[in-house]
Amino acid sequence: MNDSPFLSSADSNRAHVTHAVRVSWGGNHVVVGGGAPVRIQSMTNTDTVDAVATAIQVKELALAGSEMVRITVNNDEAARAVPYIREQLDRMGIDVPLVGDFHYNGHRLLVDHPDCAVALSKYRINPGNVGRGDKRDRQFLQMVETAARLGKAIRIGVNWGSLDQDLLARMMDENSRRSVPWDAKRVMYEALISSALDSAHQAVEAGLPANQIILSCKVSGVQDLIAVYQELARRSQFALHLGLTEAGMGTKGTVASAAALSILLQQGIGDTIRVSLTPEPGEARTQEVVVAAEILQSLGLRAFVPSVTACPGCGRTTSTTFQELAKQIDDFLRTSMPAWRDKYPGVESMKVAVMGCIVNGPGESKHADIGISLPGTGEAPAAPVYIDGEKRLTLRGDGIAQEFQVVVEKYIQQRFGGQS
Ligand code: SF4
Repeated sequence: MNDSPFLSSADSNRAHVTHAVRVSWGGNHVVVGGGAPVRIQSMTNTDTVDAVATAIQVKELALAGSEMVRITVNNDEAARAVPYIREQLDRMGIDVPLVGDFHYNGHRLLVDHPDCAVALSKYRINPGNVGRGDKRDRQFLQMVETAARLGKAIRIGVNWGSLDQDLLARMMDENSRRSVPWDAKRVMYEALISSALDSAHQAVEAGLPANQIILSCKVSGVQDLIAVYQELARRSQFALHLGLTEAGMGTKGTVASAAALSILLQQGIGDTIRVSLTPEPGEARTQEVVVAAEILQSLGLRAFVPSVTACPGCGRTTSTTFQELAKQIDDFLRTSMPAWRDKYPGVESMKVAVMGCIVNGPGESKHADIGISLPGTGEAPAAPVYIDGEKRLTLRGDGIAQEFQVVVEKYIQQRFGGQS
């Protein structure tokens, strides 16, 4: 056992090497796995039959940073709507690949609606929901055959809420014959993993290359998810999609997803992620993309928007000025990012500090690319602004927030816009 309290750099290496899977639409090729950046996925909650509403939500999710968007394809009407959704997105210049989520009847929908099969870039197949008994293999292989013929990727997405019941029953029987039976949880883990791996091997034997297959084994408990994925990663080199299923609402869903995904991502496990948040009433669907991006950015795996470092505030800040300023700057950076992405390459790595008083304000502001240290209670009403580690100016008065925003925008133009 290593007695050192410090992690070696090797501990944080992303070591699990997987096959690289291309999920493409038009000229947009999203590579999942094989050392590519960890990708963000999301899923719509509109009725797919409502092609306009679905296309609008897909666009919103894509602009928020989702690199693939999954839509439910649950019946003939939904399958018929898919090509129209694709067409509208193409017309709006949104080339995000669409993923079809199939359960029970996907084998038939893909055959009966060839335009739908073409418009989708990836098919999500749940091995627990493709049919029972002798129909199971036939219907699963029918979907695999369509993917192979059209060059589409598939995700074999196992979920413990819809685990293959025949497989589970078989494994329970086998377990009862063991001299020392496993506990029920271990049998469940093994059933999830076997369902994914057996289905993947079946797909490969049927002619679908391994680099068109992504696996997932979603559960809703953090420790369960970690245990299942560690074992799944140990036993295969298929690209892995990570997500804590049914994570829940608000803080609980966000924290549980961040805890589970971060531990696995830090171990190099996971090539694409989705944060399955239940939106709170009135909350935008894009929140799940924002959280996924924050997880990857906090881990230092990717950068999406300039980050705002803000202190929590304490008894030294009796006004809410710095909270309001931090929020305003954060909102400004996020809403500007879609327009800035091409205009200011590299801006997503910028760090902005908004601090509440002199204790840590100047120090933290100097560490950021641009930072402001607001006056705490009893301090002179002046807010020094630090740029690239140097104090450059001091803002005063009621217009500090607006003036600081102008300073930030000018800094971005000068540093990332190629202007002097
Ligand atoms: S920087 Fe100042 S206001 Fe902010 S938490 Fe620290 S002591 Fe409190």
